[in-house]
Amino acid sequence: MILNINNLAFSLLKVTIIGSGIAGSSLYYMFKKAGHNVKVIDPRIRRIFPSLIHSLLLVDKDVYLSKLALDFYKEFNIETKEFPSFTIGKIDEKLIKLWEEYGVKIEEKIIFNSKGIYAVGGDRLVYIKRMIDGVPIIKEKASVIKKGNTAIAKINDKYIESDIIILAAGPWNSQIFSVPTKSYYCWASLTLTQDSKLDRMFVYDYELNFYSRPFLGLGIRTAIIGDGETIEAKPCQRIKVDPEEVMTRARKRLGKLRVIYTSGEFCEGTPDMRPAYGRLLDNLYFIGGFDGYGAEVGPGVARLLFNFITKGEEDKDYIVDRFNGVKDFKIGKEPHEL
Ligand SMILES: Cc1cc2nc3c(=O)[nH]c(=O)nc-3n(C[C@H](O)[C@H](O)[C@H](O)COP(=O)(O)OP(=O)(O)OC[C@H]3O[C@@H](n4cnc5c(N)ncnc54)[C@H](O)[C@@H]3O)c2cc1C
Repeated sequence: MILNINNLAFSLLKVTIIGSGIAGSSLYYMFKKAGHNVKVIDPRIRRIFPSLIHSLLLVDKDVYLSKLALDFYKEFNIETKEFPSFTIGKIDEKLIKLWEEYGVKIEEKIIFNSKGIYAVGGDRLVYIKRMIDGVPIIKEKASVIKKGNTAIAKINDKYIESDIIILAAGPWNSQIFSVPTKSYYCWASLTLTQDSKLDRMFVYDYELNFYSRPFLGLGIRTAIIGDGETIEAKPCQRIKVDPEEVMTRARKRLGKLRVIYTSGEFCEGTPDMRPAYGRLLDNLYFIGGFDGYGAEVGPGVARLLFNFITKGEEDKDYIVDRFNGVKDFKIGKEPHEL
């Protein structure tokens, strides 16, 4: 069946979502609420971290996506916990104004013997695992077959009856269908800290190039520390990292740190390291390229895709067609970086 995008708003659709990470789950909640018949397929081959950072302190239009994501978390009662943040490094005045427009209270302060920007109302942990666990899934691997200009979703040899199929398998997307994304590895370490305030605040250090976030947010002497570096690699490839180089930089700012545990996973990047969504075939849609900030912008991109499918609205800044003609590319730095 070839669907006319203008008619979709008036019909109840059989929606098949491939992947139930942040992208797939957000779309499940949206389509379900609008009354559509939604199937989500996910073999659960990705480790899900209990909580991730959500920040409004992003760059340019990503701040808007991040606000859409926050609205989504509120609408669907996904728990978040707010903490102040301290950002070190030169920040453009325009960006500070933009963050203030989104309700973030900002002042200059000295913390850790360093001058920086103390922000209230911009940063939180979002309990992403609970959101993902709330989605009923068919626990299988899905595949997509192209037939002319339409797609068919399959589990093993079985066709899944669908009006539309949404490819939302993160770093696995490019293994399932041809999309302009690549997979990379990134990691973070749980550390014992000298200073208990690190479990109650975020630190974004653009001078020494690391971030620190609360672990449990209870004010105990722990923090999760990482950086924005990326290691291009296929999902599920074995990657060994040594956190000491990042810890050495972080110790210069935060004092003593002892690594308890280091853990990583795969992310998906696009040629401009910004997320993308759009239509690949008549009935096949794509969402991805969430890089290291899927909890920050992911549900916002899902909202754009939902509006695209149901209302025909298009946001040119994030549409996947912007990569038409791109043959190959290298994964860049994660976009949280200023
Ligand atoms: C160490 C680390 C720390 C991070 N910290 C943060 C943070 O604090 N804040 C933040 O915003 N982001 C953070 N991220 C990034 C964030 O995790 C990603 O942006 C996000 O998970 C991407 O969401 P996604 O739904 O696109 O893909 P994924 O979360 O990767 O989900 C893809 C899903 O597809 C499924 N799948 C795979 N193959 C198939 C198949 N054949 N059929 C069906 N399903 C399939 C997988 O099982 C998986 O569940 C971090 C990432 C890492 C690695």
